[in-house]
Amino acid sequence: MKTLTELHFDNRFAQLGDVFSTEVAPQPLEQPRLVVASEAAMALLDLDPATKDDPLFTELFAGHKLWSTAQPRAMVYSGHQFGSYNPQLGDGRGLLLGEVVNEAGEHWDLHLKGAGMTPYSRMGDGRAVLRSSIREFLASEHLHALGIPSSRALCVTGSDSTVYRERPERGAMLMRLAPSHVRFGHFEFFYYTKQHDELKKLLDHVVESHFAQCLEHPEPYHAFFREVLERTAEMVARWQAYGFCHGVMNTDNMSILGITFDFGPYAFLDDFDARFICNHSDHAGRYSYENQVPVAHWNLAALAQALTPLIPIEQLRATMDLFLPIYEAAWLDLMRKRLGLKTAEDSDKALIQRLLQLMQSSAIDYTRFFRELGDSPAELALARLRDDFIDIKAFDDWAVTYRQRSEQEGGDHEARRARMHAANPKYILRNYLAQKAIEAAEAGDYDPVRELHQVLSRPFDEQPGMAHYAERPPEWGKHLEISCSS
Ligand code: AMP
Ligand code: MG
Ligand code: MG
Repeated sequence: MKTLTELHFDNRFAQLGDVFSTEVAPQPLEQPRLVVASEAAMALLDLDPATKDDPLFTELFAGHKLWSTAQPRAMVYSGHQFGSYNPQLGDGRGLLLGEVVNEAGEHWDLHLKGAGMTPYSRMGDGRAVLRSSIREFLASEHLHALGIPSSRALCVTGSDSTVYRERPERGAMLMRLAPSHVRFGHFEFFYYTKQHDELKKLLDHVVESHFAQCLEHPEPYHAFFREVLERTAEMVARWQAYGFCHGVMNTDNMSILGITFDFGPYAFLDDFDARFICNHSDHAGRYSYENQVPVAHWNLAALAQALTPLIPIEQLRATMDLFLPIYEAAWLDLMRKRLGLKTAEDSDKALIQRLLQLMQSSAIDYTRFFRELGDSPAELALARLRDDFIDIKAFDDWAVTYRQRSEQEGGDHEARRARMHAANPKYILRNYLAQKAIEAAEAGDYDPVRELHQVLSRPFDEQPGMAHYAERPPEWGKHLEISCSS
């Protein structure tokens, strides 16, 4: 365990030099106060949980004070936003404070979001509001608990500063942790500005720091691209299996590590709807739930394009073709687990797709259905669930096939329940739950955010007294309009 001042920094990205990032000091907000902290994320830095009660915690993690070995820098990148190339993005309101090395030898980037203006702020004010900081905090820690790779969140700091969005709001900062903050868009920046030596320097840094296993490969760059593609496919398979909609899958929001990154107007599905669009500003539905799979592939193609000076194009092309098979195998594996199936059959894909069609046409709650399916023996569970389907006959037909398929595997109910409950969360971060906690926090009461964070950090566990968090959402809660503004 370490105290706050004992963190050890090794700032590898800063060492790459001024072509990659610019030194910028954080600009503090007025009267900072801790809104919520994640002890699980603190443990990644070996921080004693008690340190969060120390006033120094807030001063450091809201940019009022800096460790002497921190090197705050804004990173430059570009990227494709809604399909169009934007040549000049970068950390417009976030700063990489440095890389902390923990006792296990892992490097964790400390990235302070909402830290003020930088050379990349464009028209923005460099700030983040309490609402969006809480949303990112809750989602990062919850996705991690669900087994979905994600950047992490250490804490949210609130303040008295006013920040203007559609209305005046409170400014806040989020302390984000990730092994790296390099995005697909970093590579695009150096490719499109024709700085190919810098492109190579960036790639060497990323491979050496984060993909060292690729160095064993006869073609390390090619092995790297393949690994990014695999990780991205597996991440999206998890999103789809659990109904997570990212909302803004621009290439500057895609982590090179294949972790969920940059949370904006995200949502988890309430009722299953393949065409669900969570981002109110996404009029064409480019980033709808079902489009996340082809969009991830498209984004990988944008990354591949940026790597063409360093990797033969035939290799990139051949690797691109692996995306769908890798995605599908990972998705099928997760969906079988959600149905309690231990073995794989060719007919499973059709069984799962048929179920999703039925859920879609009857607007079935995507989280509750699977949890309830595992609560009781299959026959009993199916008899209970059938009443929610409009076309009961069609559901019964599906149920006959499903029961045959599960009975064929044998095993007792207790084992089936344990297996299914380990794959099917009871608690999911529904937008309305986040909204209620945010409204309380905006009124100065942080307890609801803290409690929600606690519940969502153990999503698979039955938690006595917390069952109301697992209830069906109210009708208003299904139609919240979440915009890009943050
Ligand atoms: P995002 O939509 O959050 O992925 O951000 C896209 C780009 O806009 C990134 O370069 C951000 O750093 C920048 N940006 C977003 N919000 C702000 C803001 N309030 N001030 C300055 N830059 C911002
Ligand atoms: Mg972004
Ligand atoms: Mg963002």
